[in-house]
Amino acid sequence: MRRVSDPAVFTGQARVRAGILVTGTEVLTGIIPDRNGPWLSERLRDLGVDAATIQIVGDRPADLRQALGQMAAAGLDLIVTSGGLGPTADDLTAEIVGAFCGREMVLDEALEERIAKIIEHNLHRWPDADREAMRTANRKQAVIPRGATILEPHGTAPGLIVPPADGHDGPTVVVLPGPPRELQPMWEDVLSAREFRRAIADATPFRREIVRLFGLPEAEIAATLRAAAAAGLHLEALEITTCLRRGELEISTRFEPASQSDYDALVAFVAERHPRRLFSQDGSTIDEQVAQLLLQGGETIAVAESCTGGLLAARLTDRPGSSAYMLGGAVVYSNQAKSDLAGVDPKVIETHGAVSVEVARALAEGVRQRFGSSLGVGITGVAGPGGGSAEKPVGLVCFSVAHGRSGDGSTTRTLTRVRELPGQRADVRERSTTVAMHLVRRILSGECD
Ligand code: ATP
Ligand code: MG
Repeated sequence: MRRVSDPAVFTGQARVRAGILVTGTEVLTGIIPDRNGPWLSERLRDLGVDAATIQIVGDRPADLRQALGQMAAAGLDLIVTSGGLGPTADDLTAEIVGAFCGREMVLDEALEERIAKIIEHNLHRWPDADREAMRTANRKQAVIPRGATILEPHGTAPGLIVPPADGHDGPTVVVLPGPPRELQPMWEDVLSAREFRRAIADATPFRREIVRLFGLPEAEIAATLRAAAAAGLHLEALEITTCLRRGELEISTRFEPASQSDYDALVAFVAERHPRRLFSQDGSTIDEQVAQLLLQGGETIAVAESCTGGLLAARLTDRPGSSAYMLGGAVVYSNQAKSDLAGVDPKVIETHGAVSVEVARALAEGVRQRFGSSLGVGITGVAGPGGGSAEKPVGLVCFSVAHGRSGDGSTTRTLTRVRELPGQRADVRERSTTVAMHLVRRILSGECD
């Protein structure tokens, strides 16, 4: 990700800044990838609060204390922590945050009672559990900093909002549990809590909009932004971030509501320079658009994949409700499978090679016929790292989309493309699915050449 406009020029800096403190030795060591830090950062941004830092620390009290101290020293207004709220001895966050905010720990009996009820309810899953031991362990979760706002548990651990005690200077700390399935629903309760609203009262209300382009190098969008500035557009009112994702270029822009017209002018400028490349002005993703087009047109789709090995089928079935249009797919890795499962004439493979536009087209048409769908997609390519040649280098992928009426064997239109995709095996495979999605969009929206 790269900021294109000069941040020193951009004038709308967030007035409230937060630190995110992710705890857990399993996250620090990489056994579990951190899903809370980035998620919280996005949610804070939505509120006009900038995450100044995301820190990950293990379950060591000294490290936790030090990280909190550093964030306070950096002048951050808010700290959000995740993890370490469970019933075991290594779950220490509440106690450390209590001390950090100058508050003593007290047992909240009403909370203890509520946690006991949750545990009682869950006990049927652990018929042999030692009830008394579980109660004792969970009593610990009801010991909280005095005066903290309680966020009701979505598992057994309550979250907390802990403002600094009277006469104690420092940030308010929001304490959340580690498991994302508990942390995420609790965020709703954070938003409505008075102590939290008070802590972010000065936050700048930003708008955030996204446009997406496909088939444009990043350098070219940088040139477009320079041209926009030269043409007198007020880019200094906009915080523009460009990001290459899954082979698409995403321009994410944040601005104060008063700068809406500057943003609209920028989008119009980009649309005029790259009319065929700009496929989303409203932030919708290619996956959303393809699903919408398939549904609207009453279309059905089937795929025959070689180098992507089912990734496109997975992507097409990712959305709930996809059964309305996705009929199925075949992973046709071997030449035999290409013929057996998608009806590719072995002579076509022999003459042109497995990676060829001819085979891609035969796959698309064949799979469409076999499944009786209105659309068929064929993908065949060299994902690498081996298997490349001078004529067909690693990254060379052939795509075809065949379109006709469902249940009718004759194809009325076919779009076929060859692309040389950059990156390693995983990149080539993933980008291939993006290229295929865009071809499907093109054929369905009638933007074919
Ligand atoms: P618990 O009551 O489950 O112990 P907790 O608040 O103490 O909750 P942790 O002990 O820190 O949370 O983490 C429990 C589990 O939650 C971890 O083993 C991991 O599976 C998941 N988890 C914790 N933090 C993260 C994170 N940052 N990203 C993804 N998963 C996480
Ligand atoms: Mg724990």
